[in-house]
Amino acid sequence: MSFSIEVRNELARILDDGKCCSTAELTALLRMGGTLLIIGSGVPGLSFSTENAAVARKALTLIRQEFSVAAEVVVTRARRLQKRNTYKIRIIPSPAVAELLTSLGILAGGGWAGDDSALLRKPCCRRAYLRGAFLGGGSVNKPEGDYHLELVTANETFAKTLYKLLRAQHLPAGITERKHDSVVYLKDGDAISAFLGLVGAYQAVMKFENVRVVKDMRNQVNRLVNCETANLQKTVNAAGRQLDAIRLIDQTVGIDNLPNALRETAKLRLEFPEATLQELVDVSRGKLGKSGINHRLRKLEEIAIEIKAGDNSET
Ligand SMILES: [Zn+2]
Repeated sequence: MSFSIEVRNELARILDDGKCCSTAELTALLRMGGTLLIIGSGVPGLSFSTENAAVARKALTLIRQEFSVAAEVVVTRARRLQKRNTYKIRIIPSPAVAELLTSLGILAGGGWAGDDSALLRKPCCRRAYLRGAFLGGGSVNKPEGDYHLELVTANETFAKTLYKLLRAQHLPAGITERKHDSVVYLKDGDAISAFLGLVGAYQAVMKFENVRVVKDMRNQVNRLVNCETANLQKTVNAAGRQLDAIRLIDQTVGIDNLPNALRETAKLRLEFPEATLQELVDVSRGKLGKSGINHRLRKLEEIAIEIKAGDNSET
């Protein structure tokens, strides 16, 4: 079972909210997965589709709780094995539906209305609204993979409302377009965990956090290894530069014509081309400290740079 389905199943089981929250949740759910059906005389009905049985059950429960209207469920069986069933809930068009949709704020002037701010005054309702949005069109990657949670809707105004709600909860949400849809997303592990907690998916939070602890530890180890590798690379690069400098000096001035101190260090580097500074200190039997050797190696590089500059000015 995918992590998204686990989260949806958990959220679909939450049914103990107050009336204010049920309204908010149902509105978001319908906005996500609902289609307004307007029949000839302008009487609206509503159709809501989902692939998740638990979500269908919850939508039906909320609809029956909120509307005294006739609703039916049609299950479309998947023809192929890998496809899922689709559950379609139909609220049969009637004047009572118009009245109730208008009072929910979903319907205005014969179409979807944009503004749900009246439903979102209380924190409990804001949480329920986000839960409805996830149930209707949300998905989240399993915590083992890249952190990603998204809410997808064809309704741009609704997407902006969700985006603002998440931002108001201090969650670093982003918003983008994908084909004909607006996508509101979270990419941050902390934010996704906070979102799941906010909408009441506590089991999912536990699972998410458990995986995250292990994953973070592994990342930390990887970072340390990478850091070591980078340091090693730096040593190799520096040694390479020094060797180039010393060879250039040898070909032009000649190492033996260098002052004693520099000659010694140049020979030491040639003898141990891959040694770190500390290793050079060790093989020189402590005659020189790290900073002393470092200073001389730099000096050799400077001489090489001067030789190169001299070459260029002559040509
Ligand atoms: Zn509420």
